[in-house]
Amino acid sequence: MSSTNTPFKAIIVGGGPVGLAAAHSLHLAGIDFLILERRPAIIEDKGASLIVHPHTLRVFDQFGILDDVLPHGTELNHHLSFTADGHVFAESNRYNLVRENHGHGPVAFHRAELIKTMYNGLPDQAKQKILTNKSLADITTTSDSVTATCADGSTYHGSILIGADGVNSKSRHLIRSLALQEDPTRSWDAENPYTATYQLLFGSFPSPAPAEAGQGYDIQSKNKAIMYFNGPERGWFFLYKRLPAPMSSRTIYTQQDVEDVASEFAEFPLTRTVKVKDVWPRMLGAGLTNLDEGIVKHWSFRRVVLVGDACHKMTTHLGLGFNNGIQDVVVLSNRLRKVVRAAAASGSGGPSAQELKGLFEEYQNMRMSSVCSLEGDVVKSGLETRMHAWHNVWYYLLSRWLSVLKVLEALFITYVMAPEFRKAQVLDYVPREERMKGKISWIYPMKSTAAKEDY
Ligand SMILES: Cc1cc2nc3c(=O)[nH]c(=O)nc-3n(C[C@H](O)[C@H](O)[C@H](O)COP(=O)(O)OP(=O)(O)OC[C@H]3O[C@@H](n4cnc5c(N)ncnc54)[C@H](O)[C@@H]3O)c2cc1C
Repeated sequence: MSSTNTPFKAIIVGGGPVGLAAAHSLHLAGIDFLILERRPAIIEDKGASLIVHPHTLRVFDQFGILDDVLPHGTELNHHLSFTADGHVFAESNRYNLVRENHGHGPVAFHRAELIKTMYNGLPDQAKQKILTNKSLADITTTSDSVTATCADGSTYHGSILIGADGVNSKSRHLIRSLALQEDPTRSWDAENPYTATYQLLFGSFPSPAPAEAGQGYDIQSKNKAIMYFNGPERGWFFLYKRLPAPMSSRTIYTQQDVEDVASEFAEFPLTRTVKVKDVWPRMLGAGLTNLDEGIVKHWSFRRVVLVGDACHKMTTHLGLGFNNGIQDVVVLSNRLRKVVRAAAASGSGGPSAQELKGLFEEYQNMRMSSVCSLEGDVVKSGLETRMHAWHNVWYYLLSRWLSVLKVLEALFITYVMAPEFRKAQVLDYVPREERMKGKISWIYPMKSTAAKEDY
């Protein structure tokens, strides 16, 4: 690894999990950056969890945080499927198959805990580049720079701006305006580019069965479904409810809406012995949101590029949204580092606007191609949600009767999921010994620490 030592600087908008991953990646690439986060603190507890899959654990290893992160998580090991009246209709081996194939099972984290560990894992000089209470309000670009203006009037200049500002991305909104100002006739994504067919009430509570940590459950019924994961200290549930009609507009729910949805699920089981109504009085945090789905068509404009939920969104059933945001950061950082280093070596002072445009297009094309799992992950996540909520008779038959056959599950994990997982990329400039070793090899191996190359 070596520093690029150029004045090239990335402004990252958003200090969520994907923005923090970008901070790790750019720091390791020797590229200067600044994070602008609108919240008053990076670590905020809303009660949600994040499932992290083995391909993301590899990247955590490259960030140097794997051993700090893992003790905060619970490796999933067993899964049961129920109907709403408490009948257990399937027992699944899916997590053990993932472990056998890729060297580690999926790990459930309390989201706030994971973000805290990602933040703490940054060196002090990188932490100093994270500014809070900085809400992006405007973006201007010139031929050789980009300026972010915040709601408090402060301005920050950089070479590029990385929009990691989530599902309602202001960066995405602003590049849309810039693109349409330049050419009002051009085609661009809609103001609200995602569509929700389901809403999701998520939350956590003290674990009702600490000894059974690592258990996953799903509960299926017509138009309503639940996912529940049990950890040693907390349990996390996800209550899915079909909306009366698909909607693209942003909806802000009230506390009363939260209570109403919870009461509709009160009699639903979470486990063989615990119902939603048993844990609801002891919630440690909960939120209600629309479960947006989609991939935007335009991921960049001039010196601005999007990552994470800002450019794609999937339902949470397979726990793949954050994992895909990590892949965005990896693919973008690998390319960015090469272009910045080449510009530094040529003495040009930084990549040209044209080079950046080409780089951003290449990044999007790769993420959208079959080289990556993104498009398939959006589809499969939506499919899983619809199957569990018995969206129509075909989903019902598939979910309740066909997919419970052990042989079909094993085929699905090995021939559908594993080929997608193994496509995941790693930072090509951070050598590490591979720790995620299973039956199935990774397409992109880690650079070995034994190699004597200049990374
Ligand atoms: C309940 C729930 C459970 C989930 N479970 C999983 C899971 O198990 N596994 C998984 O892979 N994915 C999961 N996901 C999806 C995952 O949470 C997202 O994919 C991930 O958080 C995306 O990260 P992000 O950093 O792109 O966006 P966000 O997490 O939304 O972070 C965006 C950040 O940008 C900041 N921001 C927004 N606007 C501005 C602005 N104008 N100026 C400055 N800062 C701004 C926000 O404050 C925030 O900190 C889940 C999602 C939900 C809702």
